[in-house]
Amino acid sequence: MDYNASDAIQDLQYFGEFGGVNPSISDSSTYTFLSAKTMFDTFEGNTEGCYLYSRHSSPSNLYLGEALAALEGTEAANVTASGMGAITAVILQLCSSGDHLISSRTIYGGTYAFLKNFLKRFRIEVSFVDITNLEAVRAALRPNTKMIYCEAVSNPLLEVADIGGLAQIANSRQIPLAVDNTFTPLSIAPARLGAHIVIHSLTKFINGTSDTVAGAICGSRDFCLALKDVNDGAGILLGSTLDSLRAASILKNMRTLHLRMSKHSENAHYLAERFEADGLRVVYPGLASHPGHALMTRQMVSQYGYGGILTLDAHSLEKANSLMEQMQKENLGYLAVSLGFYKTLFSAPGTSTSSEIPETEQKAMGLSDGLIRFSIGLDHDIERTYLRMKSCMERLDIVPVKEMRA
Ligand SMILES: *Cc1c(COP(=O)(O)O)cnc(C)c1O
Repeated sequence: MDYNASDAIQDLQYFGEFGGVNPSISDSSTYTFLSAKTMFDTFEGNTEGCYLYSRHSSPSNLYLGEALAALEGTEAANVTASGMGAITAVILQLCSSGDHLISSRTIYGGTYAFLKNFLKRFRIEVSFVDITNLEAVRAALRPNTKMIYCEAVSNPLLEVADIGGLAQIANSRQIPLAVDNTFTPLSIAPARLGAHIVIHSLTKFINGTSDTVAGAICGSRDFCLALKDVNDGAGILLGSTLDSLRAASILKNMRTLHLRMSKHSENAHYLAERFEADGLRVVYPGLASHPGHALMTRQMVSQYGYGGILTLDAHSLEKANSLMEQMQKENLGYLAVSLGFYKTLFSAPGTSTSSEIPETEQKAMGLSDGLIRFSIGLDHDIERTYLRMKSCMERLDIVPVKEMRA
């Protein structure tokens, strides 16, 4: 791949007001004009480079947006106050009452709840499909289908979407493919593979310090401007605006994203291989046993690896809960939702982040009770972590007897 996102981010150079090495933070919600005429023109969207009001745009948010556009190789990007703020703005920008959209059935619980329950208020219909089956996606198209939505690598089942294949289907109808790339920044570059819109929860890997909630929408200049249109833009009117202080702090954290992603991936890959060799049921796209392994290998930017998330089946919810409590007691990570922290985080998605999905549907998509989702941290000595995790599993009889009694 000739486009290198890390170099593109590295090359962004902004000086602060007094020659600072970081850009100044815009500490204002509103901006003065020297003439009333310029203010009017700015409202009409005719004055490039003028700031009006910070819900529309602010220097700090624009800097962060440029870094996200560099990350995804898109013309532009808008930042939002949360990942859900980005997702809901994109969907409501593209779909109106009476429209239809196609979504992967394995997606983030909040997105699922929005699509399944909330959109009913607007009579927007959603077909949930097995996104790995392109025929099923094609078959779900209707004359009023306005978009295709999926996650590059899905939460929590780690299904890998064929972004090129989905983009072709979208292009055949001239509708956009929107991809939530929260799980795999840098590893997968959806826009380079044909996606029209790329969404992130910045709360996770991109910020990486579990201190902020934020989101982003990366896409064409026209789409990003339309979201900010003062008359009918879903971004500006739904009002999910990121605060400048937070935007500035996320931008600084983005400077180390390439190092963090490589390490998260390296550690997760190591644990996945060891756990699988121990006979555990592990799901990780880097394992040859993963159904999406070949596709991911073909799609990814290899230096960043297969990502920092893996799942492990602890056989039952009781065992999963005991294991998580035990691992937390031994300081191997935290029993917490979310992902992308320096420390390993684990949770049982069936009863937490995906609890919005009814139990019967969870079963149908392969989300078992004992499933634990791990966001693997930046541990320096991952073998040490592995040995200590394994000893917790042995004590709880989760590691198959095969190896223990041999
Ligand atoms: C967390 C998450 C979201 C929601 O992001 P927030 O910042 O919490 O609003 C969306 N998609 C995925 C894949 C996520 O993991």
